[in-house]
Amino acid sequence: MRYLIFPLLLVASCASTSPAVISDNSGAANEPIEIALSLYIVDETDDSNSDLSSQRDVAGVEQIVERIQAIWRPAGIEFSIAAISRVDASTEMLSSLASGETGGFLNGLYNGSVALPKVSAINGFYVRSLGTINGIAPLGSGVFFVTDEPSVHDERVSSHEIGHILGLHHAIDDSNRLMFSGTNGMDLVEAEISVARYNAEGIASGAR
Ligand SMILES: [Zn+2]
Repeated sequence: MRYLIFPLLLVASCASTSPAVISDNSGAANEPIEIALSLYIVDETDDSNSDLSSQRDVAGVEQIVERIQAIWRPAGIEFSIAAISRVDASTEMLSSLASGETGGFLNGLYNGSVALPKVSAINGFYVRSLGTINGIAPLGSGVFFVTDEPSVHDERVSSHEIGHILGLHHAIDDSNRLMFSGTNGMDLVEAEISVARYNAEGIASGAR
């Protein structure tokens, strides 16, 4: 549970749309760094038909993973998939998430009341609702959330939040970039690749 730390700040929140851009350059010179990713589809405890349970399925998340890998390939960062499965959370936690509050769920991870089969360096949770936002990565938690119906591509939201976990902040001047908020931009610039790789190396080596 070493990556599951209480959030000090909340980052992210994304809305609106624009054309998809997938860049695929500059990765060749970067030796691949592999970090572990666990992905969970979150149900209300014992009720996958609940209004609070995600309507995604494992096959759908597997497709998202393939596209996440493609988005991060230019940085030479690869994800080993430790888990893709369903996990239960309480009605209270999911109601709280649906109003955009992540603290209750993170506390559940921390105290074990949300039991994960496999904790990884990065742990993604696909949830029914996050209120008005597409995704969020509470700072320092190693955790990101993606809502069932984001206003941009699922893989873009997921990859953007992973970018936050790898130490990237928002881009504010270019909507084609992955770290611009609320678009389908997917470009990574050199500085972002350097920072993300630096942090990925720290995770991969156990130093972070
Ligand atoms: Zn963001």
